[in-house]
Amino acid sequence: MIEPVYSPSARRYDSMEYRRSGRSGVKIPVLALGLWHNFGSHKPFQDVKAMAHYAFDKGICHFDLANNYGPEYGTAEENFGRLMDMSFRPYRDEMLISTKAGWDMWPGPYGNWGSRKYLFSSLDQSLKRMKLDYVDVFYSHRWDPETPLEETMQALVDIVRQGKALYVGLSRYPAEQAQKAYRYLAERDVPCLLYQDRYNIIDRVPQNRGLIDLCTESGTGFISFSPLQQGLLTGRYLNGIPADSRMARGTSLKEDVLTPTMLGALNGLNDLACKRGQSLAQMALSWLLNDNRVTSVIIGASSVAQIEDNLQSLGNTAFSEEELRLIEEISAPVQLK
Ligand code: NDP
Repeated sequence: MIEPVYSPSARRYDSMEYRRSGRSGVKIPVLALGLWHNFGSHKPFQDVKAMAHYAFDKGICHFDLANNYGPEYGTAEENFGRLMDMSFRPYRDEMLISTKAGWDMWPGPYGNWGSRKYLFSSLDQSLKRMKLDYVDVFYSHRWDPETPLEETMQALVDIVRQGKALYVGLSRYPAEQAQKAYRYLAERDVPCLLYQDRYNIIDRVPQNRGLIDLCTESGTGFISFSPLQQGLLTGRYLNGIPADSRMARGTSLKEDVLTPTMLGALNGLNDLACKRGQSLAQMALSWLLNDNRVTSVIIGASSVAQIEDNLQSLGNTAFSEEELRLIEEISAPVQLK
């Protein structure tokens, strides 16, 4: 059977909000789609395609990848490359595509961490898999304590100079190294576009370590990943562990987080979300978007229905003082500081 040619919705920009990333010229949709878990070779390609098309139809034009997303490593980028060929190529200039290198990708000393050697070869491989000439944002996926920061940053600068990335980003850097990195990059006229870290109602580490304020001061956008704490901040685990859930797969979200204290907090938050007329997932996303220091939030999803649910968060991002106080009170026992 011949596949029908993809034709995106003519109304794709009608309801999405776009926020400027730091002091750059680029605006980013407040919801981005991340391809970490559900877009690799383990997922039927029909599902991958349906989620990516649905997202783009709704104004989610930022797709966040990394070299090792799958599972298997590399296969999320390969599937994205299939989509480029099959449907997205005519819309390339409407898309903001990011990838990263910094975690283990291939064996040996050149397939991990932050050397110039690794970053250059990894990006070349990513571009081939994604069938792209350039990415919009290339991230150093984590700080490498054994490689001089200047080497990693200069690799990012040179990657931009070579036209392989338009902008650069950092993910999960300690505040001290992030500050030095922002300065190094800015002095070379390649300002850091985005800093990426896990931030949500449960995980407050970037806030408490000053990383979000550092972004604001440095003119770098802040983009939150795992905004639903990998699915904990949804209705998914309130009545057990569904067989098709990330927790049941036991990879990055372990059952032992579901303590009675955690379940108590999740139920309390869920009750509050119901009072606001939201699902727990929607409230968790709205809480992030209520903070104007947050440029964007990268959601993961295992179905179109989840993306649909998450998009509803956009219509209800205002909170009363009392609601914010209750979120603090209920989440306090499970907050990661
Ligand atoms: P989330 O916190 O959004 O978790 C996504 C999971 O939550 C889904 O797979 C699904 O779980 C569940 N979910 C999502 N929406 C709903 C809903 N409405 N109702 C019920 N359950 C829902 O994000 P991720 O942890 O997936 O991370 C998002 C992205 O962030 C990644 O894809 C990646 O791009 C980026 N990231 C970056 C990292 C970095 O180091 N820079 C690290 C981690 C992520 P289920 O599968 O069980 O259905």
